[in-house]
Amino acid sequence: MTEYLLYSKRCWIDDQIIEATIHIKDGLIVEIYKGQKIDRLSDTIDVKDKTSSSMSPARDVEESEIYFYDNNNLIIMPGIIDVHVHINEPGRTDWEGFETATKAAALGGVTTLVEMPLNTSPVTTNVEAFEIKKKAARNKLHVNCGFYGGVIPGNTDAIEALIKAGVFGIKGFLIHSGIDEFPHSNKQQLEEICPILAKYDVPLLLHCELETDEELPPISDPKSYQDYLHSRPPSWEINAIELAISLQNKYKCKVHIVHLSTAEALDIIHQQKLKSKGLTVETCAHYLYFNAEQIPDASPLYKCAPPIRDKANNQKLWQAVKDGQIDFLASDHSPAPPEIKLLNEGNLSKAWGGIAGLQFTLAALWAANEILTLEEFIPLLTAQPAKFIGLDQSKGSIKKGYHADLTVWDDEEYFTVTQEMVAHRHKESPYVGEKLKGKVVHCMVDGKFVVQNAKLDQLNAGKLLLKKYEND
Ligand SMILES: [Zn+2]
Repeated sequence: MTEYLLYSKRCWIDDQIIEATIHIKDGLIVEIYKGQKIDRLSDTIDVKDKTSSSMSPARDVEESEIYFYDNNNLIIMPGIIDVHVHINEPGRTDWEGFETATKAAALGGVTTLVEMPLNTSPVTTNVEAFEIKKKAARNKLHVNCGFYGGVIPGNTDAIEALIKAGVFGIKGFLIHSGIDEFPHSNKQQLEEICPILAKYDVPLLLHCELETDEELPPISDPKSYQDYLHSRPPSWEINAIELAISLQNKYKCKVHIVHLSTAEALDIIHQQKLKSKGLTVETCAHYLYFNAEQIPDASPLYKCAPPIRDKANNQKLWQAVKDGQIDFLASDHSPAPPEIKLLNEGNLSKAWGGIAGLQFTLAALWAANEILTLEEFIPLLTAQPAKFIGLDQSKGSIKKGYHADLTVWDDEEYFTVTQEMVAHRHKESPYVGEKLKGKVVHCMVDGKFVVQNAKLDQLNAGKLLLKKYEND
């Protein structure tokens, strides 16, 4: 088994950036040498320096091949945990798929992701469908992957079995999901499942848009981004979040607001957080990177729901991230073939809504960031999402005994995204052409270098993650 010694002047350990050498063995972090550059272990004779010209190990040393990596000033941090990803396999593998998504994830420094229950066929709303999805993922995971189950009208009886089968949460909608097989729920349906979720302490993940009686301005031009923006107002998000909060107060269940877009909801979120620890909120890279003012008309690449709002709103989101009101950041990677995005036609009413960005979350956020320190930024992609999915005892931090899921990146390097760089199945993404900051150099999953020197290397390192509940 290959062992590694990873050194950097800047490792994210115990909530500090410090010099350290991290010893990796059998997929685990077995030792951390703080403040020290350790390029060999006393009881071994053959540590290979990966930074010198001799890149290959001596093959005659069978048992203990130990490689030393001097990462100098690069950041070594826990691998990114992206808990909001749509992979669309099986059933819509032509939209993305495990193979392409998990390669793109690794290249972007993501070592663990959690996959959403819709966009696949069948949708993951019962155990049979979950089994089909797990089978589809077999031998295709280059990073770790867990799953959510879904709530739709009529599947209340399937929820407990899905939880026992190991999903990390139950996702529901309050408005058309975009996928006919995954219809949205009403309050009564959610009330049926909340006691089950409370029993197992499983989060209800809600797409928070719920239509109101408010009369909206008509869409005069389906190519106009402003018209699209006004068709999905902040009041819909607030309406849904109020419902989510009422469910939480009544049933004492965990509720997670996915992809918060409007800053107008921050006040009610804040009030609820004072009352309940069970409310969590995420926002996504595209809401923080792009602003409505810059989005051209007739460009469905930027279409998502809820929509990307104006700069003043998005600056308030950044502040809420800094203040800890938003718990963590995710991609909501939701790719689709260009034909469905209607890139030529540019019709925002008809085009598929969803942003392809899994590979670029880190670099987009770091490029757009003006207010977070590195110390504030790193946990939003690592320890915080690990805590949300209940894996914070083994992932999301660099600690002795934790899984060796690590991302090594250069926080100073700028790069412009080209289509050739994109490892998603489809190369169209609003990030193409954007100048981002923060290059992923190495990405290690369970002690294997899936990405080495910014190139894919040891594949199939990912594990299928199943959640274990105490009430099982
Ligand atoms: Zn989503």
